[in-house]
Amino acid sequence: MHERALFFDRDGTLIVHRPYLADPDGVELMPGVRKVLHQFISDGCLIFLFTNQSGVGRGLFTIDAVHHCNQRMLELLALPAPGFTEICIATETLEMPQLYRKPSPRFILEMIEKYSLAPQQTWMIGDAFNDVMAGLNAGVRAAMVHGVEKQKLPAGVLRCGDFEELYTSLPHEDADRRFLTQ
Ligand SMILES: [Mg+2]
Repeated sequence: MHERALFFDRDGTLIVHRPYLADPDGVELMPGVRKVLHQFISDGCLIFLFTNQSGVGRGLFTIDAVHHCNQRMLELLALPAPGFTEICIATETLEMPQLYRKPSPRFILEMIEKYSLAPQQTWMIGDAFNDVMAGLNAGVRAAMVHGVEKQKLPAGVLRCGDFEELYTSLPHEDADRRFLTQ
């Protein structure tokens, strides 16, 4: 079993948030993301991408445009194998029946089952409240990084200013959780 599994939001977390981004030329990595994702992978973590893209559901752009932007992000990240283990693109709008759209935990729960992930060492990491809630709804841990939301976070959610802080904080947090659950 892998030590740790990390689910990352895309917009505002891995790349600069540009509303309804559909142009690969607009993809710009957030500071520290490339280096820290390389470190997580070399540490043996499994990483997943979990992104809401309601612009597809609204008909503002196609799923291919999302794939092209993701491809550009992957080029910039240049991750070692295995890179992202799986990528989930939730295309529903708020008005549609929602299966995967965060805060739905469905994708995380499916990956826990498929890869035998340990929930206490699985993290959902994002910049928005819906990211955090997807993690908590799945029964895993949650961290907010680059968060701009002022609202109070639920107890136990880790708040990090940037990816360097995330990288140094997670091992202690995992250890705390093991202690608490013994
Ligand atoms: Mg985001």
